[in-house]
Amino acid sequence: MKAEQISEHVWSLSTWLVIPLRVWVVVEPDGVTLVDAGIPFLTKGILSFIDQLGAGPLKQIVLTHGHSDHVGAVKRIVEARKTPVFAHEIEIPYLEGKEPYPRRKKAEMTVTPGVVQPLRKTAEGELETTAGLTPYHTPGHSPGHVVYYHEADGVLLAGDLFTSKAGKLNRPMPMFTADMAEALKSSLILRELQPAHLEVCHGKPVKRPAEHLDEYLQTTARAHAIPESVWQ
Ligand SMILES: [Zn+2]
Ligand SMILES: [Zn+2]
Repeated sequence: MKAEQISEHVWSLSTWLVIPLRVWVVVEPDGVTLVDAGIPFLTKGILSFIDQLGAGPLKQIVLTHGHSDHVGAVKRIVEARKTPVFAHEIEIPYLEGKEPYPRRKKAEMTVTPGVVQPLRKTAEGELETTAGLTPYHTPGHSPGHVVYYHEADGVLLAGDLFTSKAGKLNRPMPMFTADMAEALKSSLILRELQPAHLEVCHGKPVKRPAEHLDEYLQTTARAHAIPESVWQ
C-alpha cells in the first residue's frame, strides 16, 4: 500500500489488485476521516497508516457507494475502532442486500445491516459538510453514489463516478455501472465545482478535470449511444 499526501488535508492510500484501488484519509484538527474502505486486505495498512500519521483518532468512515471494493475493510475497522459509517440513504438498501443493484440479478449484502447510517442532512435538506468534505449526490454508477468535495483544498474525491486514463477523465466501468446516462449527467458536477484536483478510486488523479469535461461527455455519449439532450 502506497501513501501519498495530495493536499494539505488529504492523503491517498493506494494498492493494486487486478485494477488500481484507492481510499482517502482526510485530516482535521481533532482526528481523521476515512473515505471509502477498499478491500478487507487493506484493513491493517489503513489502520497503521492512521496511527503513524499521529493526527488523532479515526472518527468516521464515509462511503462514496456500497460496492464490495469500497466497503471491504468496513467490518474489521468497525470491530477494531467502533467508528460510525455513513453513506447516502438511497445506497443503504443495496449495500445491506435488501435490494439488488440495478442491472444485477441478485441482491448482495456488502455490509452488515445496521452498520451504515445515512449521511446527515441540514435543515434545508442538503447533505451536511463533514471533515471539510461536502457530499454531492451523483447517481448513475450506483443509485446512491456520492462524491466528496474538500473545498479548502480544491480536491474532489469522486469514487467511481469516473475512472481515468492518461491523465484524463474516463467512464466508470460499464459492467458495474447501473445507468451510464445518469452517470454522465452527474459528471456535470465538475462544471459547478471546478476542482483543482480529482481523485478516482480506480485510476490516477486528474488535474483541472473540468477542462476535459466536454471531451469526456462526447466520447462517452458516443460509446453508449446516449443522446446529447441527457446532459445538455
Ligand atoms: Zn463501484
Ligand atoms: Zn469501484
